Amino acid sequence: MKLIGSLFSDFVNLIYPNCCEVCGTLLGLRERVMCTTCRYKLPRTGYWLQKGNPVEQVFWGRVPVSNACSLFFMAKGSPYRKLLHKLKYSNKPHIGVTLGQLLGNELAKVDDYKGVDFVIPIPLHIKRERKRGYNQSEKIADGICLSTGKPVRTDIVFRQQYNETQTKKTRVDRWSNVSGIFAVRPKAAELLAGKHILLVDDVLTTGSTLEACITTILNAADCKVSVATLAVAK
Ligand SMILES: [Zn+2]
Repeated sequence: MKLIGSLFSDFVNLIYPNCCEVCGTLLGLRERVMCTTCRYKLPRTGYWLQKGNPVEQVFWGRVPVSNACSLFFMAKGSPYRKLLHKLKYSNKPHIGVTLGQLLGNELAKVDDYKGVDFVIPIPLHIKRERKRGYNQSEKIADGICLSTGKPVRTDIVFRQQYNETQTKKTRVDRWSNVSGIFAVRPKAAELLAGKHILLVDDVLTTGSTLEACITTILNAADCKVSVATLAVAK
């Protein structure tokens, strides 16, 4: 069956060739999402190896986070921004899974992340998830699970408010806009007790959404929270 599946995907590739989501060149049969060159040039942060890295510093004085890192830098005008844009708006969930796998490959080598019990993607509001067809953070978490074997839980935290877009708000405005938007499901708090949770999101900008979600989790149970995102704004 595996052979037939692979023959079928080769056949589909012939009719609808896959292109690199960064530079647009035709992908080889074994390349996924990015060509080898773009994958090699991905501006990785290396933060998973660095205690007190700038992603961890974002949360200092705001909320206790055990470890935090992002896979790559997302500078203004960088062609790698396209990956996140297509993941969110072009119905390409596989970008999240593939990049999540890359992130998971790194986390699997670091002791700080080996003790993670399960992965929780930042939930979308159900209305937005229905509109998009999927939660991009859940796809990233699925990729991390493929590399690390850590289970993904989407049945513990949910988004109870459909908050408006945050782009033109100050940090204080954003905080009042995001506080209280997440909640832990009744009876799910016991699943968190004593656990080390890895919270996953696509991009870290101000950290307000993650901060709100971490606060909700820590208020619900005595547990540890670490954070991993695909990209960090530079
Ligand atoms: Zn490329």
